[in-house]
Amino acid sequence: MAKRQFKAESKRLLEMMINSIYTQKEIFLRELISNASDAMDKIYYKALTDDELVFNKEDYFIKVTADKEKRLLTITDTGIGMTKEELENNLGVIAKSGSLAFKSENESKDGHDIIGQFGVGFYSAFMVADEITVISKALGSDEAFKWKSKGADGYTIVTTENDTVGTEITLKIKENTEDEQYDEFLEEHRLKAIIKKYSDFIRYPIKMDVKEQRPKEGSEDELEEIVEEQTINSMVPIWRKNKNELATEDYENFYAEKHYGYDKPLKHIHISADGTVVYKAILFIPESTPFDYYTKEYEKGLELYSSGVLIMDKCSDLLPDYFSFVKGMVDSEDLSLNISREMLQHDRQLKLIAKNIKNKIKSALQSLLKDERDNYEKFYGSFGRQLKHGIYSEYGANKDVLQDLLMFNSSKEKKLVTLDEYVSGMPEDQKYIYYATGESIERIEKMPQTELVLDKGYEILYFTEDIDEFAIKMLMNYKEKEFKSVSSGDLGIEPEENENKTDEEENENKELFEHMKNLLSNKVKDVKASKRLKNHPVCLSAEGDLSIEMEKILAQMPD
Ligand code: ADP
Ligand code: MG
Repeated sequence: MAKRQFKAESKRLLEMMINSIYTQKEIFLRELISNASDAMDKIYYKALTDDELVFNKEDYFIKVTADKEKRLLTITDTGIGMTKEELENNLGVIAKSGSLAFKSENESKDGHDIIGQFGVGFYSAFMVADEITVISKALGSDEAFKWKSKGADGYTIVTTENDTVGTEITLKIKENTEDEQYDEFLEEHRLKAIIKKYSDFIRYPIKMDVKEQRPKEGSEDELEEIVEEQTINSMVPIWRKNKNELATEDYENFYAEKHYGYDKPLKHIHISADGTVVYKAILFIPESTPFDYYTKEYEKGLELYSSGVLIMDKCSDLLPDYFSFVKGMVDSEDLSLNISREMLQHDRQLKLIAKNIKNKIKSALQSLLKDERDNYEKFYGSFGRQLKHGIYSEYGANKDVLQDLLMFNSSKEKKLVTLDEYVSGMPEDQKYIYYATGESIERIEKMPQTELVLDKGYEILYFTEDIDEFAIKMLMNYKEKEFKSVSSGDLGIEPEENENKTDEEENENKELFEHMKNLLSNKVKDVKASKRLKNHPVCLSAEGDLSIEMEKILAQMPD
């Protein structure tokens, strides 16, 4: 039989993946187990709406078997299975060309990032296997198929016999090489440890035949080896566990297992609320920006469970836009399972949960800011822009939630400061919070307009993003201090002895100024002697409230 070729792009991605240096080869097992669990969930959901289908929980399990001599590792499930077409489509195509293009632009530092990102979980098994055989029988089909592949050069599909619905995946584990160890993936204790580490809260039992030494019956000191089928995972979802039973690592594993992100989260929030609303939630503040975060493609939302059963992948009503970066899940007993999207929007319970969650996220960010400044700054580098958008949007309705979370670069010590830090550092005679807008910090530092303010010993906030000034205009003030652009006409700084001097200069140079004004007739409104310059001969200054930069942005906007 002719071998079918993987689609060309799949082949490239596959090779790239297999050849990347994976720091953790062991995650292949997590991927295969999560696919098995998904396949059983699919039957479960089908049974909810299909009266002919009965879901007996005892019938659903995953079995992991290792054969050391033959170097075979088998993962079997009683899930929904795959038809021939599904075997071809789901296991034969890795990525759409779009995601591949993205990948080549953003060559990842360690291959870890790629797994799962494009739905390539299954392929991670080629990190440890020379050859993979998948035997599957789909629910409702009376034919079974055997899919076989050695990796990048294609696969074969033949019909085969199989009595039961489900999927059996057999990996031919690679031989050890000088640099790489593969034997461990055939070791019982190692497999048990990997399952415990990554798949402990999978809702179906993950079984293994475990060898054990036992005292021989009727004998005191003789031992006999017996094989016993054991369930390795505890099956209790992590969010049902007590916080003090869990370590940061457990949360990080959950984050990876759920594919919330390919980074390590900066902070987790574990909520167990039994007040007016009863729910459990695990939320994460990611470290890095998802590649599509600042695009329309990005979908915010939390997973929503009703008594442990997933009812929605991305429930967007649970997160305000300005916290759209938060990942995680919510489980509540008070929600009905068959709840529809439309009904959810009006669900009072859900609204209460959302409000509660918003406050928890805010306090988590505040404690990050207070206690882990470096991590907060990492967070802010990734998502600060979103917070500023949040201030600007909805006519400033969210000012109070967000203003304390803002940070800007500043002229003092060249570091990020919060508005609170700025205001606390203001000398008594300083009336305004000063800011300067420009393309970059270097540019701003060269602006003549900053001279007088800096000379007074006042700090200046550096606005380098378009959104900065819009956000601040929406805030208007912070702790009763108004914001003022250094390029505004009136800086509110009392000029010192040179006040009269400028008047004199004004008069002396009247003709020159008139001449300049005529030359620049449609570019400037007026030419005046300035009170604010020391080292620079000339600067532009704005008349109204808008800075020159903001006027530029507004002028570029379509009407
Ligand atoms: P993802 O799980 O992100 O979709 P994978 O590469 O892990 O990506 O799996 C690809 C697809 O192959 C799955 O979406 C599923 O349709 C199918 N699949 C994989 N393993 C199984 C399985 N054990 N039973 C049924 N379908 C499976
Ligand atoms: Mg998967």
